[in-house]
Amino acid sequence: AKEAGRGTYAFFEESLNERAQLRRQIETDLRLAIERGEFELLYQPLFDLEQNRICSFEALIRWNHPTRGLISPADFVPVAEDTGLIVPIGAWVIREACQQAAHWPEHVRVAVNVSAVQFHRGSLHETILAALAASGLAPARLEIEITESIFLDGGETTLKLLHSLRGLGVRIALDDFGTGYSSLSYLQSFPFDKLKIDRSFIQNLLTREGASAIVRAITELAHALNIETTAEGVEETAQLMELRSHGCSSVQGYLFAEPMAAADVDQLFNSDKVA
Ligand code: C2E
Ligand code: CA
Ligand code: CA
Ligand code: CA
Repeated sequence: AKEAGRGTYAFFEESLNERAQLRRQIETDLRLAIERGEFELLYQPLFDLEQNRICSFEALIRWNHPTRGLISPADFVPVAEDTGLIVPIGAWVIREACQQAAHWPEHVRVAVNVSAVQFHRGSLHETILAALAASGLAPARLEIEITESIFLDGGETTLKLLHSLRGLGVRIALDDFGTGYSSLSYLQSFPFDKLKIDRSFIQNLLTREGASAIVRAITELAHALNIETTAEGVEETAQLMELRSHGCSSVQGYLFAEPMAAADVDQLFNSDKVA
């Protein structure tokens, strides 16, 4: 057992070392990725359940690494946050998403993820203002998705920035709703336009009694506060039916479409009445 233990330990050490190396490599490559144009945005539709049509697309970043291939945000966004590189990367995301959305039908919005680091250090107001001006996109067609982690620092300046963004006319969604510790108090402090109900609740919707009750409570609360709701990660028809019965405003997930390239979105709109 001792031998095995030591072997396991050595293996663990080695893999930790490899991880650290991989991380340093990612960090170095990330610095070059913007200028080399290695990032791409995919777009996943949100389907409005009242209007029965696509109402929005969420922009989701991908990194086409020259040797490692496609890298998912889970593997590089944390590094980008630690190094501050999320600020220029996030600014690129906002510019690019606005440019794309500007030639979609007018009722279709674009949603962009903004990380807490970018929120606090990214001159977000100026970045968004410039992106809207350059693209000609109407402010109400841009929605930013933030998580409650933005409230962990900043205090009053966090609320001030939220209000100044609202002043630009952009919409503000609270992402991954229900996974934090005190989401409800944030609803009291700022009038969000939308709550995105975290995928973990949707996953358990049909198998755990609790999940269904929670989703119902969230949608009822949102209704009372005049806030829209989006259920994320909808994969099954049965989940969709349940969400409809709860009065959820819109849904997003593999049941409808996976994140797709910008060219495929354009084709969707050109081909006919899908939207
Ligand atoms: P998120 O904002 O919660 O985005 C939803 C994630 O769920 C996306 O993963 C999406 O592809 C995935 N998804 C959508 N429908 C389904 C489904 O039916 N089933 C399952 N299993 N998954 C589904 P993705 O694209 O890998 O992004 C992961 C996370 O990375 C995002 O989570 C977001 O936090 C972050 N992220 C993505 N793009 C950006 C970005 O441009 N900036 C920042 N700061 N973060 C980003
Ligand atoms: Ca999101
Ligand atoms: Ca989410
Ligand atoms: Ca999530």
